[in-house]
Amino acid sequence: MRMPSLVVAMAAAGAVGLAAQTLDLSRYQMVDLSHAYSAKTLYWPTSTSKFALTRDASGPTPGGWFYAANTLSTPEHGGTHLDAPRHFAERGRTTDEIPLEQLMAPAVVIDVTKQAAADRDYRLTPEAVLAFEKVHGPIATGTAVLLRTGWSRYWPEAKAYLGDDTPGDASKLSFPSYGVEAARLLVEGRGVAALGIDTASIDFGRSTDFQVHRVAAARNVPGFENLTNLDRLPPRGAFVIALPMKIEGGSGGPLRAIALVPR
Ligand SMILES: [Zn+2]
Repeated sequence: MRMPSLVVAMAAAGAVGLAAQTLDLSRYQMVDLSHAYSAKTLYWPTSTSKFALTRDASGPTPGGWFYAANTLSTPEHGGTHLDAPRHFAERGRTTDEIPLEQLMAPAVVIDVTKQAAADRDYRLTPEAVLAFEKVHGPIATGTAVLLRTGWSRYWPEAKAYLGDDTPGDASKLSFPSYGVEAARLLVEGRGVAALGIDTASIDFGRSTDFQVHRVAAARNVPGFENLTNLDRLPPRGAFVIALPMKIEGGSGGPLRAIALVPR
C-alpha cells in the first residue's frame, strides 16, 4: 500500500530534535510495538483477573444493518502496557498526568539479545549502556530507551516468556531486564523520558524488591512493558509513540505503542 503523502506540521516544544519541524509520514515506516489483547494475553501470575471481551451485539439489526459492540475488562498491568510512575511512587504521576513528551520521544534500542540468550536472568549493566553510547553516541535527555532482549519471540507462552507458569505464584519467574545501576544511569544520569522493554517488567524476573521500578517512578519516568518488534528498529533514529488508554488516576494501562522508522 502506498503511503499518502501526508505532511503534518509538528511543533513539539520540549521533545528533543522535534522543535518546529515538519513530519512527512511518507518518509517513515510504521512499526507496531504492541501485542494484540486476547484471552491469551499474559498477566502477572498473581493478577486476580485477565483481559476479557464480552459480546454485547454482533449481527443484523431489525433495521437491516450490521451492528457489533463489546464490553472489555482488563487489569492495567498486562499485555503491552504502561507503568505510570504512580505504580511504584505514592506521589508519582498517574496515567492521565504523564506529559505527552514522555510518551512520544526519540528512541534508542539497546540490543542485549546475545546476553539474554546466554543468561535468562541477565540484567542490563551501566557498562553495557556506556558501550552502547561509545558506538551509537550519547543518550540525550528526553530519549525513550527500549531494551531489546528478544523475549517477544516467546509470547504468549507463559513458561518460556515468564520463566514459570504456576498460577498465583510469582516467586519463580525468570526473564531478563534492566539492572538497577543501569536504570540509575539512564534515569538520573541521562534524564530519559521512559524505559521500555520486550519482557514483562522493567525489573528482571527474579526481582523481589522492584528497584528499577522504584528508581524510575521516583523521577516520574514511565515504563513500557511487553513490547514487541524491537528487532525492526535501528539502535537510534526511530521515534516512538506509546499512548495508553487515558485512565484518570491510573497506575498504568493498555498501551498502543508504535515506532516511526526513517525509510
Ligand atoms: Zn506494569
